[in-house]
Amino acid sequence: MDWMEFALGQLSRMNPRLVALIEKRLRAVPSVKRKIESDYDGIMAELERSVKPYRDGFFAAARLPAEGRSRDEIIREMEALKQREESKWKEGFVSGAVYHGDERHIDFLNRVYAIHSQSNPLHSDVWPSAAKFESEIVAMTAAMLGGDSRTCGTVTSGGTESILLAMKTYRDWARETKGIAAPEIVAPVTAHVAFDKAAQYFRMKIVRTPIDSSCRADLSAVKRALNRNTVAIVGSAPGFPHGVIDPIPEMSELARERGIGFHTDACLGGFVLPWAERLGYPVPGFDFRLQGVTSISADTHKYGYAAKGMSVVLYRNAELRRHQYFTATDWPGGLYFSPTIAGSRPGALSAVCWAAMVTIGERGYMEATRKILETASLIKKGIAEIPELRLLGDPLWILSFASDSLDIYRVLDEMAKKKWALNGLHKPAAVHLALTLRHAQPGVAERFVEDLREAVAQVKAHPDERGGMAPVYGMAATLPLRTVVSDMLKRYIDLLYKV
Ligand SMILES: *Cc1c(COP(=O)(O)O)cnc(C)c1O
Repeated sequence: MDWMEFALGQLSRMNPRLVALIEKRLRAVPSVKRKIESDYDGIMAELERSVKPYRDGFFAAARLPAEGRSRDEIIREMEALKQREESKWKEGFVSGAVYHGDERHIDFLNRVYAIHSQSNPLHSDVWPSAAKFESEIVAMTAAMLGGDSRTCGTVTSGGTESILLAMKTYRDWARETKGIAAPEIVAPVTAHVAFDKAAQYFRMKIVRTPIDSSCRADLSAVKRALNRNTVAIVGSAPGFPHGVIDPIPEMSELARERGIGFHTDACLGGFVLPWAERLGYPVPGFDFRLQGVTSISADTHKYGYAAKGMSVVLYRNAELRRHQYFTATDWPGGLYFSPTIAGSRPGALSAVCWAAMVTIGERGYMEATRKILETASLIKKGIAEIPELRLLGDPLWILSFASDSLDIYRVLDEMAKKKWALNGLHKPAAVHLALTLRHAQPGVAERFVEDLREAVAQVKAHPDERGGMAPVYGMAATLPLRTVVSDMLKRYIDLLYKV
């Protein structure tokens, strides 16, 4: 073991707060700072080529072209770009990302977009159709998720915005009705990172609670985390990492007993679980049929099969929803109100979402769910037959697997060589595949299992090979200095915005 490894090992055993303090002091030393900076630069330079593959051979615009370019030429270039590497989702090589992807469905959505491309729901007087589409999207989603005549909500730009807004709503509701000035959210570690984002943006505290061996929220830990400042408890149906559904009946009951909010994050499951339940799969309670559930997020742009940029946040009643709204009465620009974070919004996306929902209908969603869950059964069986791998929890269609004998990130890399774009998870180290209709195409499940078997065999035969994502995850997992990892991620975003 070299000294660096030894030092990191020592640090990882220390109190994280103490480590953070040491790190802050260390980084203030100019020579250390310079060294870290030059290391970052080296790593980023290596990444640049893969992040920016179009530098050669395509028109690049670092400033406005003096004369506008021809529309035909632009369309030709766009098509060429798309053909290059950006269509591997079509054959089902990608986890999540494109949830429907059938060509006729896409063409239909594109036509609807074209009809409404100028619509802006901010101007509901000019485009009353936007309010029609949005109110009906909310109503259809509420009816699907056990809502009653009081259930209400708004559309948002995505799961993250739905979550941000629900948390802001609880913050403002608790301040007004309970006088809570230092609001806290209690969420299992597996709840989506958007809850951390909400806490950061809205100056709330988030208390993360552990999961049990089945990857579900540990109920007694949730109970222990509650205090007078808790404004809401969060549960996932299912959670992104392991696709496992939290014990929401029990968790929401804790919230109901204390008169606080309970948010079910059904961003992934909202448009799958109601149909899985009807198909006879074991689906524990998660929706408004549970009296303690006071809000739900459900992503129309995932398994609702709408275009990206659309989600729904629902509330048990209008009183709660009103805390989400923004109004301004003294601005020289006039009386102003908006339901969500954005001002102007793409009304076309609401029209597209409405159209997707009504053209698919109950039977379409049920059929899609049946296909996805049957594909999941095939893949789960395949994973179970690979002795080196272990499925985490007892998921329905969002699968993650780990290994006790191999570096699972090496398996991730070997799968990437075979064109698969899967996700790496950590804490614990695992690989994740969110099944969509793309994977329900004939032969995809079989190809996945076959490739996975080969990938595992390859890693087993060559355990010491380097490269790919394995060292990155390896480093992120062992590094006690979290701000170094965080800095690296920020530099990666910088790189994305580099022309
Ligand atoms: C995708 C997802 C979100 C966030 O949604 P975005 O649309 O990416 O903003 C939240 N929760 C869960 C469980 C998700 O899978």
